[in-house]
Amino acid sequence: MKALVVKRGREKSLKRRHPWIFSGAVERLVGEPSSGDTVEVRGSGGEVLALAAYSPASQIRARAWTFDPAQAVDAAFFRDRLAKALAFRDKLPAARHSNALRLVHGESDGLPGLVVDRYADVLVAQFLAAGVERWREEILAALAELTGCEAVFERSDADVRRLEGLEPRVGFARGNRAATRCPIVEYGLNFRVDVEGGQKTGFFLDQRENRQRVRALAAGRAVLDAFSYTGGFAISALAGGAKRVTALESSAEALEVARDNLAANPLDPSLVEFTKADVFAHLRRLRDQHARYDLIILDPPKFAPTAAQARNAARAYKDINLLAFKLLSPGGLLATFSCSGGVTAELFQSIIAGAALDAGAEAKIIERFGASADHPVALEFPEGDYLKGLLVLKS
Ligand code: SAH
Repeated sequence: MKALVVKRGREKSLKRRHPWIFSGAVERLVGEPSSGDTVEVRGSGGEVLALAAYSPASQIRARAWTFDPAQAVDAAFFRDRLAKALAFRDKLPAARHSNALRLVHGESDGLPGLVVDRYADVLVAQFLAAGVERWREEILAALAELTGCEAVFERSDADVRRLEGLEPRVGFARGNRAATRCPIVEYGLNFRVDVEGGQKTGFFLDQRENRQRVRALAAGRAVLDAFSYTGGFAISALAGGAKRVTALESSAEALEVARDNLAANPLDPSLVEFTKADVFAHLRRLRDQHARYDLIILDPPKFAPTAAQARNAARAYKDINLLAFKLLSPGGLLATFSCSGGVTAELFQSIIAGAALDAGAEAKIIERFGASADHPVALEFPEGDYLKGLLVLKS
C-alpha cells in the first residue's frame, strides 16, 4: 500500500489522534501517492499509525481518516461516518426548533475538509480538502440516501481549496431549485438563505443559540447589531421585544436578504433601521453624535484566520469594542464575538478588558458564548474551537 513515513519524533501528535500531518513531519513517501489517495501513515519504526488522505499541494500534507489500520476506507466508511454525524444531530434540542443545522463539521465529525449544512430540504456541501474531493461521489450518494434531500448545492469556493490545489466548484451537485432564498425556520423566526451567493454556505448556523440569548435579553432595549449580515441578531432582538434596532452591514446583497427576512416575520418593520455602512467608521460617527444603546452586538468577520495575524486582529477587535463601550448606556449589555481561529478565548478576553479600560467603562462578564452544538469540537482537534464570545454588562 502507498504510504507516508513520518520523521522520528513526529509520531506524537498522531498518537494523540490529531488528524493533521504537516509537510515538515514527512520523512518520505512510498509508492508515489497522488492527490486524494489513501496512504498508510507509518512511524519511523514502520508501525501504521493511521490511514490518511494525501494532499501534495497543501502544507497539511495528509489528513487522517482513521487511526485503526484495519479499517477499510471505502464507500461504506463514508456512509457510516455520515450516519453517525446525522444521528447525533437528530437528538439535539436544536433539531426540534430549527430545520437548519450543520450536519457535518469537518475534522470534528471524522470527515476532514467536509462541511454540510442543511437548510430545510436543501443541503449545502463544501469539499475543502483533497481527500473528500476524491470521495465526492460516494459522499453525495450517501448524503442523498441518509437525508432524503434531493437538492445538494455545492459551495466549494472557500479560499482554503486553493491551498489544496483544487479549483473552486459552485452549483447544484444534485437536483435543482431556487437557491437564492431558501426558507428556513429558527426558533419560530423565518429566514431566507442565499445558498448560491451568500457568505460561507449562506447562513451563520454557529450563532443560532447566541441569537436566542440576545432575543431573551432584548426586551425594552435600544439595540445596535453591528456586522449584521442578513439580520440574524437584529430580527431575533426585535422578536424579543427590543424598543428599536439599528443594524449595520457593509454588504448590499446581505442587506437585501435582511430586509426580506424582516418582511417574512410578523414584526413591526418600522422599529428596524438597516444601514449600509462600514462599522469602524460608523461607530465613530455614532460616538460623535452621542448615540446611546442598551444592547450592542459585535459579530465581525474573521480578522485572524491563524495566530500569525493575531496582532493586527487584536487592534481591530479593541477598536470596535472600545467604541461599543462608549456607546453603551449604564446597565447596557455588550454581546461581543470573535470567530478568529488565531485569537484564543484568553486573548479575546484580555482585548475586551483593555477596550473597557481605555473607554473608561467598568464592566463585568456575565456569560460566555461558543458555537452551537451542531458545530462540535473533537477533543483532539482544538483548532475546531474558533467561535468565542462574551456577554458583558456595563456598570
Ligand atoms: N451576525 C451575523 C453574521 C455576521 S458575519 C448573523 O448572525 O447572521 C460578518 C458580517 O460582517 C458579514 O456580513 C460582512 O459582510 C460584514 N462586514 C465585514 N466587514 C465589515 C465592515 N467593516 N463594516 C460592516 N460590515 C462588515
